[in-house]
Amino acid sequence: MVGTGRGAKLGILIKNGEVLEAANGIQTVVFDKTGTVTIGKPVVTDIIGEEIAVMALAAALEHSSEHPLGAAILEKADSLGVTVEEVTNFIAIPGKGVTARMAGKQVFIGNAKLLDTRLDAKLEHEMQRLQSDAKTVVIVGRENEAVGLIAIQDAPKKTSAVAVTALKRRGFHTVMITGDTERVARAVANHVGIDTVIAEVLPGDKADHVRSLQQSGKVAFVGDGINDAPALAAANLG
Ligand code: ADP
Ligand code: MG
Repeated sequence: MVGTGRGAKLGILIKNGEVLEAANGIQTVVFDKTGTVTIGKPVVTDIIGEEIAVMALAAALEHSSEHPLGAAILEKADSLGVTVEEVTNFIAIPGKGVTARMAGKQVFIGNAKLLDTRLDAKLEHEMQRLQSDAKTVVIVGRENEAVGLIAIQDAPKKTSAVAVTALKRRGFHTVMITGDTERVARAVANHVGIDTVIAEVLPGDKADHVRSLQQSGKVAFVGDGINDAPALAAANLG
């Protein structure tokens, strides 16, 4: 009772006594990246390729998307005065991106998992450079050919490094899990001091990773509920 009262004053809702019991003996704290370690408000920082053409294609695709990356792209397109054209057959593929048909062609935006062919050397180089800078890079394409890249940055919350440091001082193993690529995930984790990175995880597989971490002890999962509700439920403490 003292704990729930003290928690309420700090804005923390403690569901019941069992939850406090479960919190005892936790060894690993797993964080979702987007919206949890980071602010969750991504902004477009770089456009590689013919700027207006790339953004017009991207905005048409993201118009029907609910992903935070889509919101960042629409905001940038708007500031460039790009007209948003209609698409048909819109499909969102969780953890990968979106595809649709536009003017009789198949168009897409998302990560490399969506592209059947490899990027050319120049785009591949640009992609790696931007990712090392902790930027999420999406490929914009038409008919399986990359038209350009868009780099998007979602800054870590100022409180993330403080929280991670405090947990590590108490001996917790800290882990970050994300659908984003390894290079970006590492850059963000290094920035806030998280020990272990599990990247390129599809939304439905996050809970499986929690279960496999539980083989070496109790796990707490910290997330925003977007994409990670099953993982929050699978953990000893969510
Ligand atoms: P997280 O685990 O960080 O919350 P998601 O699983 O939602 O990330 O997405 C993983 C990756 O899939 C993104 O980094 C991006 O490359 C790609 N992606 C998903 N949805 C979209 C979209 N609407 N537009 C562009 N890329 C997308
Ligand atoms: Mg998320």
